[in-house]
Amino acid sequence: MTVALKVRGLSVKVADKQILHGLDLEIPFGEVHALMGPNGSGKSTLCHVLTGKDGYEVEGSALLDGSEILDLDVDERSRAGLLQSFQYPTEVPGIRLEEFMLEAGDERGIARDEIEERIEVESDRFDMARFLDRSLNDELSGGEKKRSEIFQMAVLRPKVALLDEVDSGLDIDAVKQVAEAVEEMRSPDKGILIITHYSRILRYMTPDRIHVMIDGRIVDSGGAELAEELEAGGYDSVRDRLGIEKKTEDVAAKPADFFTETPFDL
Ligand code: ADP
Ligand code: MG
Repeated sequence: MTVALKVRGLSVKVADKQILHGLDLEIPFGEVHALMGPNGSGKSTLCHVLTGKDGYEVEGSALLDGSEILDLDVDERSRAGLLQSFQYPTEVPGIRLEEFMLEAGDERGIARDEIEERIEVESDRFDMARFLDRSLNDELSGGEKKRSEIFQMAVLRPKVALLDEVDSGLDIDAVKQVAEAVEEMRSPDKGILIITHYSRILRYMTPDRIHVMIDGRIVDSGGAELAEELEAGGYDSVRDRLGIEKKTEDVAAKPADFFTETPFDL
């Protein structure tokens, strides 16, 4: 049986700097995995390389439901069933959410009555009906934007959903809602990867597996016990346990983090 996403030996360079070092990652259908790592560890780079953003030197393999995607262009990957939600959802005033969803359905060759049916069912499930007539993402709170993205993914039904910085900029109530929405999106024909540097979202959801990325490598994978370790001792605890030296050139948090994050221990 194929798995939703199988990454093997993925090495990525940008401007002569090695960012990912032979990464292996496997997400079976029906599962939700969490990729956790400090700022600058390479999480977004992984997403960009999987979705096909250019400017990276890539080696290795990424199979989506058994088929190689690394040699496809961005649109082909999306049609093949890979969908990423944006780290910072863009606001697109002027296009209504429902209109946008219908177009996205057309692009993917989903029949109109099928997509209309899905919009109805999923907008009900994710409490998005009142947003359908509003501009895409315009004037939505941080939590509403993330919920809107998860609703869009639920309608388009990708085989693999990548959610980068899924809880960035959200207050704790919104984090809880997003966690619940991700669990709601879980389905046997989908693999979901949520990416974050904060462990707090793990208080409200139970991924099947948690992977810790440090300096472009997945250094540990596990279950609830890893979530507990991260919550209690952060990445330093994982580094200490595995004997990984902290790099002095550690990347500072991006400016946006200072303005948008709820303090860790709230
Ligand atoms: P994360 O998402 O885990 O915070 P990123 O994938 O954004 O990490 O970045 C990983 C590392 O790669 C960082 O050190 C970052 O500065 C570097 N990096 C990312 N993109 C580029 C680029 N286009 N040019 C040079 N360095 C980059
Ligand atoms: Mg990132």
